[in-house]
Amino acid sequence: MAIRTKLVAGNWKMNGLCQDGVMLARALGERAIAAGAALGRELLVCPPATLLSTVGGVLAGSGIALGGQDCHAAPKGAYTGDISAEMLADLGCSYVILGHSERRHGHGETDAVVRGKVAGTWRADLVAILCVGETQRQREAGEAVEIVSSQLAGSIPDSATAATLVVAYEPVWAIGTGLTATIEDIAAMHAEIRSRIPSGTRILYGGSVNPKNADAILGLSDVDGALVGGASLNAVDFWAIAQSCPLR
Ligand code: PEP
Repeated sequence: MAIRTKLVAGNWKMNGLCQDGVMLARALGERAIAAGAALGRELLVCPPATLLSTVGGVLAGSGIALGGQDCHAAPKGAYTGDISAEMLADLGCSYVILGHSERRHGHGETDAVVRGKVAGTWRADLVAILCVGETQRQREAGEAVEIVSSQLAGSIPDSATAATLVVAYEPVWAIGTGLTATIEDIAAMHAEIRSRIPSGTRILYGGSVNPKNADAILGLSDVDGALVGGASLNAVDFWAIAQSCPLR
């Protein structure tokens, strides 16, 4: 069975000008270089598209991977404002976040749209980090598993493998709110997701992960790492979360 190397990913969202990105990337890169192979987990930062080139340059040689926050399904064309997976790969990205709730809910992205983007990332040899998660109303109505299952079924192309896909379970109501799902709910949802995706696929938890709650969340056997928003903008906090991630 494939080893599910732990992955801690930072989603910087629409934050940071050049100088901020350089300082944050430098602080993380220095720590990663000092840790060397002993780091033992995969670290990834997903800055805004405007900072990819700069941050990629700062992180060169650190072992920290670079990722995009979204991409278009097509390789190129008349899509004003969009970025293709090929363009992300060209800047040194190896991952791209897709189907984030801020795209699904803020930009009306359907499962079919997300599925097209996931397929597009594979054309460019990127790994897709597919986000799924229920709203508070859906959880209260007892629909969480049904919603997440239908997002998985609708957003994952048939050719998915553990090498090309990472799933991030991110309850919408926990993103940027300081609320987190209970340990029991996270464990149950991750087990449910695992039964519906290719064997060996990594599943991250996302939703207000911080240095205080990371030990408990990342210690769960079906949690293969974290997708971190707010706390990833602080090098000390992001590093502490990464350190909380058990090596196996
Ligand atoms: C996210 O944006 O994917 C996220 C999990 O954000 P936060 O950690 O701020 O809740």
